[in-house]
Order: sequence, then C-alpha cells, then structure tokens
Amino acid sequence: MEFRKIPEQLESLINISELEAALENPLWYLSSSKPWGPIIDQYYLNPSDEGSKTAEWEAKKLEYTWLLAKMLEDQKVALGAWEPYYNDDERVLPQKIAVIHHTSTWEDTPISYIDALGLVRLYVPLFRDGVWGRNQPISSGHFYQGRQLFVGYHWLVYSDGTSIQVLDDNCMGFQAGDLSTNNQSISFACVGDLQDSTPTAYAIEEINRILQQKYVQVTTIFGHRDVLHQGKHVNTICPGNRWEEWKDSLIIP
Ligand SMILES: [Zn+2]
Repeated sequence: MEFRKIPEQLESLINISELEAALENPLWYLSSSKPWGPIIDQYYLNPSDEGSKTAEWEAKKLEYTWLLAKMLEDQKVALGAWEPYYNDDERVLPQKIAVIHHTSTWEDTPISYIDALGLVRLYVPLFRDGVWGRNQPISSGHFYQGRQLFVGYHWLVYSDGTSIQVLDDNCMGFQAGDLSTNNQSISFACVGDLQDSTPTAYAIEEINRILQQKYVQVTTIFGHRDVLHQGKHVNTICPGNRWEEWKDSLIIP
C-alpha cells in the first residue's frame, strides 16, 4: 500500500509553530494546558453535536491530526518512558477472541495518523483521569520501529490485502471498550471507512490468512460493536453498519 503523505502545507488554518512548541511540555495533553488541552476537548473528546461540525471544523481537525502525526513521527512529542510491556501484565495469552474494527479513515492512511488518533482518543483520557497517577507524561510501553506507539489495534489490514502488525501479541490494545475483552483478544482494523461499506475481498482474505497462520486458538470473532461491557453492547457502529453482511466471511481457524 502506498501511504498517503503528510501534507506539506499545514498552516492554512492552524498556527503550527505555537502548536509544535507546546508539545515540548510533558503535560501538553491536560485540559488546562493551552493550546492542546482545549483542542483535544473540542475536536476529539467532546466535540459538539453533529450539526455544528462545520466544514472548517473538519478541516482544522484534519490539520491538527496531521500535525500530531508528523510530530510523533519526528519524535518531537514529550512522552513518558515506560518500559516495554509496562502495562501488559494482565494480558491473557493465547488470545481466544478476535475483534474486528475499521479505522474510519482513508484506505491509504499511514500508521502515524492512526497513531495520533490513538494518542488523543485512547491515551489522553486515561492519563487525564490519572489511572496511573496524576500529572504523568503519556506513555504506552508499546514500541514500533523504535518509537512509542499509541495504536490500539494489533493488526492493520489495508484494502489491497497488505497487513502490518503494529502491536506485539504480548501487548494489550485499548480497542474493544472492555478491559476483560482487551486482555484476551487479538484485534484487526480494516483501514478505511466502512460506515456504509464492506471491506475488500483482499482484506477479508488477509485476516483469514493471519488467523489461520498465527491464531488457531481463536474461538470467537467479534465485530467491535458485538463486544459487551457491563452487560451492554459498547457504544459504536464499528466496524460499520454492514458488519452483519460480511461477518460470516471471516473464518474461525
Ligand atoms: Zn472499533
């Protein structure tokens, strides 16, 4: 897969020098840390209702996400320094469940962009809540190609059938919205927006191939939306509204 490139011109709507400098503060993500705290609230965690998301709002969000992706790639975001697997003690191996997602992005989305989204959507809330202590710099203990990674999925599967394992099997991904499911599942994200469509045959074939080759212990395949948390389905349409149509093409190994 030829990945989409980080746009060269990112300052049509946002002030990148101020935003870049602010990422040197190890607590850049706190609600009280300007400018990123309020941006994360407004664009990622508590966006106002659908109706008020204007084209300008969407365009700005895109630029913020690309900028974060670029800064993560360049290792210019202040982060903590957890050891590898720091938080993966509860990880249950071998995994009996496979959870299927979509990324809700373009089909040529680069890893760094998915990484930036994972950082703000998954890790910022946990570190703001002080799950591992207050006022800590963000850390994942997960590494890919020499840098910390915040992607919640183990495998990214692209529409042309390319796949990349970004999260080691020993690592727990914050992906399913339920801790006990996270602990005992392997997760696949179809890269693309499947809200109203289905993955390509190549992508489905690749997931089946990986399951068959690496995860013969899997006995259950869930779409993200099938996962139960405290007795209720998690609140998501992931992996899209047409999941029922293609779920049976995934084969329990
Ligand atoms: Zn999902």
